Amino acid sequence: MALRTLDSLGSLDGRRVLLRADLNVPLHDGRIGDDGRIRATVPTVRWLTERGATVVVCSHLSRPAGSPDPRFSLAPVAERLEELLGAPVAFAADTAGPAASAMIDALEPATVGMIENLRFEPGEASKDAAEREDFARRLASHADVLVSDGFGVVHRKQASVYELARILPSAAGLLVAAEVEILHRLTTGPSRPYAVVLGGSKVSDKLGVIENLLPRVDTLIIGGGMMFTFLAAQGHPVGASLLETSQIDAVRRNIDEARRRGVRLLLPTDAVVAETFSADAAHTVAGVDDLERTPFGASGMGLDIGPDSAAAFADAIRSSSTVFWNGPMGVFEMPAFAGGTRAVAEAMTEVSGLSVIGGGDSAAAVRSLGFRDDQFGHISTGGGASLEFLEGAALPGLEVLGWQP
Ligand code: ADP
Ligand code: MG
Repeated sequence: MALRTLDSLGSLDGRRVLLRADLNVPLHDGRIGDDGRIRATVPTVRWLTERGATVVVCSHLSRPAGSPDPRFSLAPVAERLEELLGAPVAFAADTAGPAASAMIDALEPATVGMIENLRFEPGEASKDAAEREDFARRLASHADVLVSDGFGVVHRKQASVYELARILPSAAGLLVAAEVEILHRLTTGPSRPYAVVLGGSKVSDKLGVIENLLPRVDTLIIGGGMMFTFLAAQGHPVGASLLETSQIDAVRRNIDEARRRGVRLLLPTDAVVAETFSADAAHTVAGVDDLERTPFGASGMGLDIGPDSAAAFADAIRSSSTVFWNGPMGVFEMPAFAGGTRAVAEAMTEVSGLSVIGGGDSAAAVRSLGFRDDQFGHISTGGGASLEFLEGAALPGLEVLGWQP
């Protein structure tokens, strides 16, 4: 079955639409960093208001523990959306309580409101289906239909993504439809060689997808935080670098499986090792055999791939015809550790076929390093979601909208 798109909802004139977006933008001291995910939501909001719908936007932001936390309020995001839309966005300080009801009741047709961070409610991301269902029913009372446009969360079975889509008439928004279309091209006969580049810090999430990617790719390139679990699996001491000890055996199996399948597995040969996790930390380049033989000893932390690795990765990327990249190669937020990410981004702009970047931080990284969106084939708003899509997994938030991989 195909994805239900906006046209399937019929006339929206005068109807209330709950728009589940992914506005989980990077925040620094309460200020918005890269606003790519807010920008990516604007076309759907406009599409809906132009058709006379009253739009109630909802999203999560970061990972609050199921209760209100002012550090993760969506209020600044509502302000930014207002600037980007050039139209007012009313804001409610709760999700399904009296403030939300009052705000929504006061909305004129074809205008926009936003409710507070969905993860301020324990029901949103609860492991208990009944608790999610209960929260979804409370959200459902806000609207006549659900437009699901938060691509970054479609791999999560969460109340606003999954249960709510079964309660209200629902369809994919413009962003989700566009993401699915482009990523589908990567799963159905990508032009070869096909390389996947993985990095970032959500190590255990991402290690899990590798097994399922191996049958699909020609080249797998590993940098970022997860490189150290690979290096540890090969017997290299990694000092105080990010390491998932519990995953070492699984990683060993992946290394063997890559060899068996003839997948080219590219691991770093050197790393930038720092004394501490800070922008002005003393740092040095070390080969992967010598990560603990720097002046910082076993307390040194690998915060980026080294220059030799960056050059080798860039070569492999440039000579591939399809490349998908998720996860920065290092702690790009600190200039001293951005070199690997910059080299990979540069190489991505030189891919002759389709280059796709996925992930909130990865997208933010290439933008903050001065690259333009149009230098790449596509920048996906989803990291984990795009990886799971590429594995061929059934994503709950897409399945519920009619999509079958
Ligand atoms: P995405 O949002 O693109 O899916 P992640 O959220 O998994 O990416 O990871 C992004 C984060 O990974 C960045 O904040 C970056 O600083 C961090 N990171 C990359 N390499 C390392 C490393 N070697 N050690 C610690 N953090 C790292
Ligand atoms: Mg991230």
